[in-house]
Amino acid sequence: MDKVILIKYGELSTKKGNRNFFINTLSNNVSNKLKKYDVSIIKDRAHMYIEFRDEDFSNIKKEIDKVFGIHKYNVANIVDNDIECIKDVVLEMVMNDNPNTFKIETKRSNKSFPLNSYEVNNVLGGHVLKNTSNIKVDVHNPELLIKVEIRDNKTYIYSKEYDGAGGYPLGTQKMGMLMLSGGIDSPVAGYLAMKRGVQLDCVYFEAIPHTSIEARNKVIDLTRKLAEYGNSINLHVVNFTKIQEEIYRNCKDEYCITIMRRMMYRIMDRLCKKYKGYVIVNGESIGQVASQTLTSMNVINSVTNVPVIRPVACLDKLEIIDIAKRIDTFNISILPYEDCCTVFVPKHPVINPRMDTAIYEEEKFDYEYLIDEAVETLNTIKVDSTDNSYSDLL
Ligand code: ATP
Ligand code: MG
Repeated sequence: MDKVILIKYGELSTKKGNRNFFINTLSNNVSNKLKKYDVSIIKDRAHMYIEFRDEDFSNIKKEIDKVFGIHKYNVANIVDNDIECIKDVVLEMVMNDNPNTFKIETKRSNKSFPLNSYEVNNVLGGHVLKNTSNIKVDVHNPELLIKVEIRDNKTYIYSKEYDGAGGYPLGTQKMGMLMLSGGIDSPVAGYLAMKRGVQLDCVYFEAIPHTSIEARNKVIDLTRKLAEYGNSINLHVVNFTKIQEEIYRNCKDEYCITIMRRMMYRIMDRLCKKYKGYVIVNGESIGQVASQTLTSMNVINSVTNVPVIRPVACLDKLEIIDIAKRIDTFNISILPYEDCCTVFVPKHPVINPRMDTAIYEEEKFDYEYLIDEAVETLNTIKVDSTDNSYSDLL
């Protein structure tokens, strides 16, 4: 019996004008993920079919579970559009599963097939009942649901359907630059942006010797987790030490965080121009800390015209943690290494900063020069989803 992985696109099939671009991007992403397996990929406007070797299924499943743009998928048996062949396969599937109750659900897009969906359900249901004992039909809550899709050339029959990663295929949007710290929020923000098709570069601000190599390695590990949804991600490591030291030497205590974040945004603005990033993505969440009140966001955001996407802005911390656990970044994020934001936290950071005070305070040192230097001296690391080493990074 021939088998195929049948992929349903979901949301992207509503994109009329762009449909081909979406489907082609998805099929490239799938074939990239599966390049070490013996598969062939066939696509049409509504579905993608992957022919595969049985023994590879569990590994292939792990890979396609991380491909955005897939709504649902299943492993379907393929037979000719012949009711006798369909009957044989359905009966075999029921006998293999041996449920107490079952239901057949037929969709017939091939209108030249001699029976309509309702008639096919009846014929198949009757055939199963006649050839088994103690199995009943339950149309509301069946133990085994068998779906039969009669298409133009072949019929696809399957029972178990898996949820895909959802969203849009990675690369259907231009590039964004993620501010990636070692915390819980920013990897989740990155994941959610990637899920909308945004290809990411990541930027990490470090302040060695105030922060450690372990803290950097943690960010590399988080980048690697995100890279699993594509292939590799560039991580730009910015040396932020001098800027941070100057801020704390020159500026009023309670404005240090506001000004530090204005400096980060200025650098992000420059990096977006340098690397063709169209948006800045970060893990800010409304009201979480002093620098994330709406007044703070206003004063901080005003140094750049690049749009800032904050995917977790309106989520509760517990909701963010749920996603972090699901995407397996949580256990890395809670490792205890200091981030540059946490090293220099003032006792009473301003909650409602004033724009004029922030400008007055930051003009106490020559930050333009330091920003130029930080941009020119950054280190870029290519983080591969499959490579676990740090050796080329230090
Ligand atoms: P937590 O999960 O503990 O809140 P966080 O990473 O969200 O950690 P915040 O101080 O809330 O830390 O910072 C808000 C956002 O600013 C982060 O989500 C991240 O996008 C960005 N950010 C903070 N520190 C850094 C850093 N060192 N490098 C890059 N981006 C950073
Ligand atoms: Mg946060």
